[in-house]
Amino acid sequence: MKISVFGLGYVGCVSAACLASQGHEVVGVDVNPVKVDLVRAGKAPVVEERIGELTAEVVASGALRASGDSAAAVTETEVSLVCVGTPSAANGSLSTAYLERVTEEIGAAIATHPGRHTVVFRSTMLPGTCLELLVPILEKASGRTAGADFGVAVNPEFLREGSSVRDFFAPPKTVIGEIDAASGDVVAALYEGLPGEVFRVPIPVAEMTKYADNAFHGLKIGFANELGAICRALGLDSHRVMDVFLADRKLNISPAYLRPGFAFGGSCLPKDLRGLVYAAHRADVSVPILSHVLTSNEEHLRRAFDLVARTGRRRVGLFGLSFKPGTDDLRESPLVELAERLLGKGYDLRIYDANVSLSRLMGANREYIESRLPHLGQLLAGSVEEVLAHAEVCLVGSTDPAVLGALPHGGDRVLIDLVRMPDADVRRAEEGYVGL
Ligand code: NAD
Repeated sequence: MKISVFGLGYVGCVSAACLASQGHEVVGVDVNPVKVDLVRAGKAPVVEERIGELTAEVVASGALRASGDSAAAVTETEVSLVCVGTPSAANGSLSTAYLERVTEEIGAAIATHPGRHTVVFRSTMLPGTCLELLVPILEKASGRTAGADFGVAVNPEFLREGSSVRDFFAPPKTVIGEIDAASGDVVAALYEGLPGEVFRVPIPVAEMTKYADNAFHGLKIGFANELGAICRALGLDSHRVMDVFLADRKLNISPAYLRPGFAFGGSCLPKDLRGLVYAAHRADVSVPILSHVLTSNEEHLRRAFDLVARTGRRRVGLFGLSFKPGTDDLRESPLVELAERLLGKGYDLRIYDANVSLSRLMGANREYIESRLPHLGQLLAGSVEEVLAHAEVCLVGSTDPAVLGALPHGGDRVLIDLVRMPDADVRRAEEGYVGL
């Protein structure tokens, strides 16, 4: 199939490269010229396992190209996948500004499209957004009728940053919200051959399923971290407790997101929880549990800060800065928040994160760091050793083997383990180790 992918961020560049590797002819479109140039040069604009190699391969074979020309991309293809960002608006709801703009551009190009084009929204959006906001924009801009002259579908993305390429090829499920059967057929054809159950549902149901996922992930992390905090206060190993809890097959609970660790963050869970709670309040539905998931998460962040404060030491080395291991994504990273609190209280901080340094070199994240985090950018060290030479307290927020392998056992440093290091069982017995 000939496919346009709008937005070459985490979702878009993974979708584009993976679909190209499946034999489709893909053009990736972005308004950010740095991302377009990177893809043209065969480089991925994000740091993710396997995405670098895959992008190089599919660009070299001609299956994937990049462009800044949205009208040409729509005209030359049968289907557009919309993967632009939907960040939080100031009131906690979802900002649809990028979605509206790209939808208008696609609609204008549909006006002169020679065939039946299908617009597939992959961005996360609150129920009602597609049919009440985006379809009218498409119809107005194109002068054509959705479901008759062109197709519309919502196909939420369930990938997890850090393992997104693997997740693309082994999705937990495929959800297709369709305006008509023909639109759904186009989406189903895109993923033909991939495993996992396919659900063809009304569009608002598809929109809502993504919120069910993200709200539950946040709830599980908050639950596990609160249990972990109680265990630490009582001198218990929280992971042993969870091992036993999860072994109960009758409960049949997936262990995913249920291991005590650090606070959650990133570009999805916090903003989707905020968006969902906002939508509930607007609909006059009281949601005390969901309303407090983010409060629980903030409390967990405060606990990590307190662990450092209690050491009475000032020179801190932070390993990891992105919102979780395996990605360079800094948006709403709890490690960024922790670093800023430490900095604000006058701690002498150095930071090492290989993925962030790498993406900064590529240029993809340079602007983000320079414009939003210049105070942290200047604390980034070039090596683990540089941070170790500085630190009296090591905060381990990374599972990078190069970091874990270099962290010494024992000695005078305090080591605060935010990720449950693989050798935590051994380290628990050592002086200076603090686990979660
Ligand atoms: P991102 O910010 O990394 O990427 C979005 C890209 O869209 C940017 O490169 C931006 O320049 C581009 N863009 C904006 N307007 C455009 C336009 N008019 N034309 C072309 N490109 C345009 O965002 P992301 O993390 O990939 O997330 C995209 C969507 O997918 C969001 O709705 C998010 O909630 C959802 N989602 C994200 C993840 C994740 O793990 N990141 C997982 C599932 C779903």
